[in-house]
Amino acid sequence: MSKFIFVTGGVISSLGKGIASASIGKILESRGLKVALMKLDPYINVDPGTMNPYQHGEVYVTEDGAETDLDLGHYERFTNTLSSKFNNITTGQIYNSVISKERKGDYLGKTIQVIPHITNAIKERIKKCAEVSGADIVIVEIGGTVGDIESLPFLEASRQFRLDVGVDNVFYIHLTLVPYIKAAGEVKTKPTQHSVGTLREIGIIPDVLICRTEEPLTTQVKEKISLFCNVRQEAVIESPDMDSIYQVPLVFKEQILDEIILSHFKLICKFSDLKDWKTQVVDKVLYPKHKVTIAVIGKYIELQDAYKSIYEALIHAGIYNDTKVEIKRIDSESVEKENPLKLFAGVSGILIPGGFGYRGIEGKIKAIKFARLNKIPFLGICLGMQCAVIEFARNVCNLKNANSTEFKTTKYPVISLLAEQKEVDDLGGTMRLGAYPCKIKKQSLAFKVYHKVLIHERHRHRYEFNNKYKKLFEGKGLIFSGIYPKKNLVEIVELKNHPYFIAVQFHPEFKSKPDNAHPLFRGFIQAALAKLAPLK
Ligand code: GLN
Repeated sequence: MSKFIFVTGGVISSLGKGIASASIGKILESRGLKVALMKLDPYINVDPGTMNPYQHGEVYVTEDGAETDLDLGHYERFTNTLSSKFNNITTGQIYNSVISKERKGDYLGKTIQVIPHITNAIKERIKKCAEVSGADIVIVEIGGTVGDIESLPFLEASRQFRLDVGVDNVFYIHLTLVPYIKAAGEVKTKPTQHSVGTLREIGIIPDVLICRTEEPLTTQVKEKISLFCNVRQEAVIESPDMDSIYQVPLVFKEQILDEIILSHFKLICKFSDLKDWKTQVVDKVLYPKHKVTIAVIGKYIELQDAYKSIYEALIHAGIYNDTKVEIKRIDSESVEKENPLKLFAGVSGILIPGGFGYRGIEGKIKAIKFARLNKIPFLGICLGMQCAVIEFARNVCNLKNANSTEFKTTKYPVISLLAEQKEVDDLGGTMRLGAYPCKIKKQSLAFKVYHKVLIHERHRHRYEFNNKYKKLFEGKGLIFSGIYPKKNLVEIVELKNHPYFIAVQFHPEFKSKPDNAHPLFRGFIQAALAKLAPLK
């Protein structure tokens, strides 16, 4: 039977609960255990797919095509687990399932209530994830902050869980903030005390506290937290701000968090010192030999989380190439107005990520033209590929005002909807989603970076390259190097006589890992360092 760890957050949001959960997964996995990680999101949307990036940040797509919370990206990057639709639950999904059961009459005339019907549905989903994954340990991260109204059913379900499956099989970790008050010159434990107090009112007594802090915690402070919060002193784990998120598993490991968890579960596991993670990931991030600047052009550039997996994939490619990747975030609308020579001074590569809607498109197209003409390494992703096609159509093939039908009606719809998408009415969960196979042409840049003819990559888009223009574009020098054979859809385009100009309809960033950087990003950074020989 699986064991369960519930991770809650207190005091404020943005303490890095996702990274903490992923790091716990990492240290336990390194001990030879099979882990699974889940995120429970209190919002009423069925999934984040229809949410604006300003509301939610990146939407992370799993192999099976679920549109999920970006924390699942951390889980997949830190551990060897693959998530699916079973790893992310929202209040919307829970209510949806309970209400549809009620409509079918499955509750035999009972009054449907939060306890037990909603909490039962939550517990069933957690058990389902344990069953599907076959994990030894399921780590369940509960979204929101303790004290929020909307996360209460999730907290209640996790309280009941210990009653259902036994004390030895459930472990509670609470992530909290121990702020440093400059004027007083000391750290304060009161917010943590209150947060744990609120948890205890719900009936959850944390086994471990992870204290986010800017200043080191003295033994006295730890003693105080231990006493007031009823947690053993060694179970007060300090989590200071780090230069890299990939250091967090090492920080936890140093404080034997893995041992504390394993001894509660009475599990005896193989030894691990996370040496490979330290030498192959952390040391490489902290002490790189080279440096390169990459421009990322998007319309949500001011948001930390909107392009999370892209930024991480660039860091991974940096790790692979012993390089610090400096990211210059450029707002696509500003490209429309400014001189590219000035804007891209000192930039060694241009990346255009995915997106929706017309705002900022002309700036992206202008940046692609600049990369094409000035032989600056370019990586286009999803909308980035669609913009590269529009740029090529307009400026190389002279198709005036060529566009995607997502943005304008045009004489030259070089990006358009497939017939099956034209009939779609609902916005949620109806795009082309999840992993699809792609066949790669030999003697292409794509083959040179992947070293494979068959790849599988994840998608999240509605529009496609319009095959009507394929012949014309090929004649003008665009290479269609990756195709989804079943439907003959264009997945990768690239340019001849350019050191690195490649654009893909899928999202390679979702499969990049710190210890296994994605080939397209690796090649991109190599080209930016001018180490990759151009394709003849
Ligand atoms: N808006 C485009 C489409 O739907 C691209 C989507 C994306 O970049 N994820 O096809």
